[in-house]
Amino acid sequence: MTAMVKAESVHKSFGLVEVLKGIDLEVKQGEVFCLIGPSGSGKSTFLRCINHLEKVNAGRLYVDGELVGYREKGDKLYELKDSEVARQRRDIGMVFQRFNLFPHMTAAENVMEAPVQVKGAGRTQARERARELLEKVGLADKAGSYPAQLSGGQQQRVAIARALAMDPKLMLFDEPTSALDPELVGDVLDVMRDLAESGMTMVVVTHEMGFAREVGDSLVFMDDGVVVESGDPREVLTNPQHERTQAFLSKVL
Ligand code: ADP
Ligand code: MG
Repeated sequence: MTAMVKAESVHKSFGLVEVLKGIDLEVKQGEVFCLIGPSGSGKSTFLRCINHLEKVNAGRLYVDGELVGYREKGDKLYELKDSEVARQRRDIGMVFQRFNLFPHMTAAENVMEAPVQVKGAGRTQARERARELLEKVGLADKAGSYPAQLSGGQQQRVAIARALAMDPKLMLFDEPTSALDPELVGDVLDVMRDLAESGMTMVVVTHEMGFAREVGDSLVFMDDGVVVESGDPREVLTNPQHERTQAFLSKVL
């Protein structure tokens, strides 16, 4: 089976600062892959490279067997045209810590926007699909509400529905519950759990160790731009092998 994401010695620098120092990892199709690590370790940068928000400086990054942002010819790399980058991005959904909904659009309009604008879907069909997706995230009754009328947790569930509206083959979550009041976290995690059960491939940066333990299929601990330790989440979380992982977990667990 092809890996959904494959990173081979991925490097990324900002100016002179190297943030990813050779990341190797593989996310299998249909798995929930959790990425944990201290602030500044490069987790967001890695996700952003997968989704073309940053460019890898060296190494190879593949999504569903295709090199991200480049074409390989012999041992040379050529940057993809904008239209091809757009095609690759269309298949990837991303949910950020902040919900980034369009404030002047209702929940349903937020969910419809990309299918209509990017895929050329008809409005009636897109609206129908938006209703289905809002129902799936438990917000059937909020289709006509504006973001300001929704709680953070509800906004985040709209953001998930919006990402799903493009029928992605891969979903990236960057600390999706970190900005939420504690009592709103559970509803968002429940939606993510349902999504995982439906077979979606998910890469999840999170500090929710309970979620990682219960829903995760694989877990990677990153620190200072490298993968320190990886494996079955239950193994790594209960029996971390590396001192750095132990130190991190002793702070967050
Ligand atoms: P994490 O998500 O694990 O907290 P990040 O990937 O956000 O870590 O950041 C890793 C490091 O890269 C940090 O030191 C951060 O300051 C730096 N960094 C991230 N984005 C940029 C950028 N656009 N320009 C310069 N430095 C950046
Ligand atoms: Mg981050």
